[in-house]
Amino acid sequence: MSKKPSDPKNWNPATLAIHGLDRTEHAHFAVSTPIVHTSNYYFNNTQEVYDFMKAKSEGKVIREHEYGRYGNPTQQECERKLAAVEGAERAVLFASGMAAVILTIMTFMRRDGHIIFTSDCYRQTRDFAANLLAEFGIQVSMVDPTADAIEKAIKPNTNIIFTESPTNPYLRCLDLPAVVRVAKQHKVMTIIDATLATSYNLKPLAVGVDVVIHSATKYLGGHNDLLAGVTLGSDKLMNDVYRMQRMIGATPGPLTCFLLERGLKTFGLRMEHHNRAGMAVARMLEANPKIEKVWYPGLESHPDHRIAKEQMKGYGSIITFLVKGDDAKTRKFIDALELFLITPSLGGSESLVTQMWMMSFFDYPEDYRKKIGMSDNLVRIALGLEDVDDLLADLKQALERI
Ligand code: PLP
Repeated sequence: MSKKPSDPKNWNPATLAIHGLDRTEHAHFAVSTPIVHTSNYYFNNTQEVYDFMKAKSEGKVIREHEYGRYGNPTQQECERKLAAVEGAERAVLFASGMAAVILTIMTFMRRDGHIIFTSDCYRQTRDFAANLLAEFGIQVSMVDPTADAIEKAIKPNTNIIFTESPTNPYLRCLDLPAVVRVAKQHKVMTIIDATLATSYNLKPLAVGVDVVIHSATKYLGGHNDLLAGVTLGSDKLMNDVYRMQRMIGATPGPLTCFLLERGLKTFGLRMEHHNRAGMAVARMLEANPKIEKVWYPGLESHPDHRIAKEQMKGYGSIITFLVKGDDAKTRKFIDALELFLITPSLGGSESLVTQMWMMSFFDYPEDYRKKIGMSDNLVRIALGLEDVDDLLADLKQALERI
């Protein structure tokens, strides 16, 4: 019996992260994508310039490269693979996750419009929403991360719903089909920052979300060694995002794109490890008498466990918990960890630990911190790629010291 020719669209994320949907010819038949370090691309004569400009004015592409801010070959190869993994028509890469978030919002925001954000979102996104958007005459509502709360906040001038799933640090998971139903009913666009879920564990576009954003600094790059962001969606929407990027910049450099594409080659393997490690460590912490409470979507005790189970392939490697005790005990525990580096961020090969109030909310007034649940004993860990038994042992020994 002859083998059915496989359709790349049926390949799994791990395969797509390596091959994309189609193969691009590389100079010298190189297996890895060359790093093209140039800021501009020359034309051989004025006729070439004329033909290029004429084709461009008619919406045709006769050659891809012109100027570095408009993209480079290493970036475009990486974008093709990211789009394939996400199941998007097109990806646009940025120099950081925040550049992707802000420039995507700026692409679609409208004067006198209203944007709904969900609370418990990334600190800089929250600050952009709360402090900068008003300067542009945009109304903002910050609501609980649920479809119900979003629906209640819809106004006649709402044109964007911006959510994260899972959120940070409480890992709340949005019922995405319900959010999409609300959005479609009110003709509102949906944008999700799915950094913590990744395109391995969650497929927002498949359930009708319009635009997905990731901080590629995290799991997509995966090695704590680069900064990048990516916005993904239909060709039509991404053309608008790309136009904004061509104008403003925030384009990632070729070396960053090479590192990101290299990181993608192990994306599937890494995510399987992260998912396994996350579940094992979350269960251990929940059973440990020195821990007051654990938030991890894979645990039955998490408020959104049912939603997470329905829509996610795995739950990732971020775990948030309360140490039983005060600030001093929490610091003692963190300082006793041997494998965890004290730093913000997540999604890389090294395990990281953050005492939330001190690292991310230090400059907020104490009463506000308390109001949003940033208590002194709130800790977030982002497990890396170390052996799971070693991570369990390290956490246990540090807990025994308090
Ligand atoms: N979105 C989320 C959910 C994040 O956690 C972060 C960074 O931690 C960002 C966006 C910003 O990404 P970057 O640091 O790459 O700008």
